[in-house]
Parts: sequence; C-alpha cells; structure tokens
Amino acid sequence: MDPVRVAVVGAGVMGLSTALCISELVPGCSITVISDKFTPETTSDVAAGILIPHVYPDTPIHKQKQWFRETFDHLSAIANSAEAGEAAVHLVSGWQVFQSIPTEQVPFWADVVLGFRTMTEAELKKFPHHVFGQAFTTLKCEGSAYLPWLEKRVKERGGMILTRRIEDLWELHPSFDIVVNCSGLGSRQLAGDLEIFPVRGQLLKVQAPWVKHFIRDGSGLTYIYPGASNVTLGGSRQKGDWNLSPDAEISRDILSRCCALEPSLHGAWDIKETVGLRPYRAGVRLQKELLARDGRRLPVVHHYGHGSGGFSMHWGTALEATRLLKEYVQALRAPAPKSKM
Ligand SMILES: Cc1cc2nc3c(=O)[nH]c(=O)nc-3n(C[C@H](O)[C@H](O)[C@H](O)COP(=O)(O)OP(=O)(O)OC[C@H]3O[C@@H](n4cnc5c(N)ncnc54)[C@H](O)[C@@H]3O)c2cc1C
Repeated sequence: MDPVRVAVVGAGVMGLSTALCISELVPGCSITVISDKFTPETTSDVAAGILIPHVYPDTPIHKQKQWFRETFDHLSAIANSAEAGEAAVHLVSGWQVFQSIPTEQVPFWADVVLGFRTMTEAELKKFPHHVFGQAFTTLKCEGSAYLPWLEKRVKERGGMILTRRIEDLWELHPSFDIVVNCSGLGSRQLAGDLEIFPVRGQLLKVQAPWVKHFIRDGSGLTYIYPGASNVTLGGSRQKGDWNLSPDAEISRDILSRCCALEPSLHGAWDIKETVGLRPYRAGVRLQKELLARDGRRLPVVHHYGHGSGGFSMHWGTALEATRLLKEYVQALRAPAPKSKM
C-alpha cells in the first residue's frame, strides 16, 4: 500500500510535536514538515516554556485538564530519561504568589503538577507584598533545545523537512493527501481565521545562577523561571501588537518588577531581550476541514491557536490532532464506496 502523504505546515512546538506524534502512532504515513521558519526563529523558541496552564475560555476545562495531564506525563518521562539534558526538559519547584486571596485557590491543574499545596506563613515572609501563595513542582521545557530535539526525532523516524512559505493550502494539492495546519498566527492568512491575533510578549534572559526556584505573580504578568542555561524574566502582554523589536522601557519595567519579587536579581548580568507573538485565540482550533474547490478535495486538520499556554498543552493537543488525522487516513484506505470523506 502506498504511504499516505502528510504535510505538516509549521515548525514551532505544535508542528514538530504533531509530526512526531503522527510518525509514532499512525503507521503508513510519509511526513513532511513545511515551514518558512524553523528553530531558532519561531515564537516557540522565545517561550519561557514553563508548564502552568492558561485558561482557554472557549474550551471545556475537562479537555484542558486532559491536554495538560498528557503533556505533563509525556515531558515527565523525558525529564526522567537520559534525553533530559539534550531536550532541556527538567523539573522546577517554586511559588505562585498573590496580592489578594484568589477566588480559585485550587486551580484545575493542581493534581497534575507535583506536591501542590498552599504556602505556609513562614514561606510567605519572602514576599511581604503578597498574602497568599501556592507551592508546587512543575516542568520547564526550553524551546531553543526542545525544538531541535523534536526535529531530530522527526528526521530519525523518516520525516522530511522543507523550508517554504505557503500562501494558500491548495498549493499542497495534489502533492499531499492530508495537510495538518500548525501555522500558529499564520492561520490568519492560511485558514482565513480572523479570531486569531497576536499577544506580544517581551522577556529577558539573564545570568543569575543562584536563582533555583521559580516565582510567578498570580496575575501571570511577572515571573522568574530558572532554566538550564539562564533565568527567564517576564513579562508583557500587548494585545494586537505585531512589533518584534524589544522596547527598552518594557525591559526596565520587567527587571524592576522581577527585582521586587527577588531582590537578588539586581546582581544579574548578561541581560538579553527577546520578543515573541503569542498566537492567541479564545479556544485552540482542533478540527477537521475538508476543503473543496473545482471538484477537488483537500483534507485538512487544523491545530493552532494556543496563545500563552502552548508548551503546557502541546503533547495533549498533538495527540488529539493525530486522532483526527487517523480518521482521514482510515477513510482514505477504506474501499471507495464506503469512503466517508
Ligand atoms: C514571551 C512568550 C512567553 C511564553 N511563555 C510560555 C510558557 O512559559 N509556557 C507555555 O506553555 N507557553 C508559553 N508561551 C506560548 C507558546 O510559546 C506558544 O503557545 C507556542 O509556541 C505556539 O506554538 P506554535 O507552534 O503554534 O506557533 P509558532 O512557534 O509560532 O510556530 C508556527 C510555525 O508556522 C510557520 N508558519 C506560519 N505561517 C506560515 C506560512 N504561511 N507558510 C509556512 N510556514 C508558516 C512559522 O514559520 C512557524 O514555524 C509563550 C509565548 C511567548 C511569546
């Protein structure tokens, strides 16, 4: 039987993890990842990569919890393996602190992360401006190492990589049987989806090797995430802003907010600024769409719109995109009259 030719558009964390997932779970496919940009030039390379979910208002919570658990379990296995260093996936413990008591003291993901508990009075003494806190251990996954690691796995499993900008998904017909659209913000054009828009985020990567715990303000705006080679300080959120150049005023503000949480950061050095555009949507789009034009058909699986929480959910949503693709593959292989496509 000829292999089913699958094109995955996009080489951020969604494109590469979906390509890997398909190669592991759907036999008989030839996979090509097609993208105009690869690591280190994607939004996914900029991300802080901490596993703490952001709520998608249009997605049921049980679904978000399932995606988060699948991602957490998958990355835990990597963190527990000999691959942990190369993939830059590791456990990190710390605190999320609040200036007022939050309405939701136990978030939906509390029993997925490890050792979730309310902080003690003694622990809160470190944060004199905060009245409540949560202590837990989660994972951090560094895009700049994790993406090359994923790309290597995709190639080892026979996947091909192609640098190309796609203007219209129909360009992929008839060279490919199925297209998986993981183009993030590119879906504004490729899928004509005006519900997706950028939320600009600026970060600092600094040297401060004494910082071992993560600290996150409950608003999610200010955070300190120690990683394998540097500490990420954040952040900013600017809705609808496409500007990829760092803004010196925002950098000063980030540093000052982070120093207020962790005064030892006054001694940080080698400060580098980065900017990324979060592909924001009220809910992740995970959906089959059978495009039709002039009597031709092009099966598409959309997998994009992860906003601020793509790393936290990527393996769970990649598994779901793979299930949708499998339905197309089964239909393609079914005898013609029974084909449901
Ligand atoms: C500052 C910042 C901090 C973040 N921190 C975290 C965090 O701590 N935890 C977390 O879970 N998430 C975090 N995120 C969110 C996370 O980075 C995103 O949700 C995730 O990276 C989205 O991945 P993606 O693969 O969908 O998009 P991208 O990484 O943007 O990939 C899209 C791909 O599609 C390609 N493409 C687009 N259009 C076309 C086209 N027309 N033709 C060909 N190729 C195309 C692009 O070149 C790219 O390769 C953060 C984001 C930012 C900006």
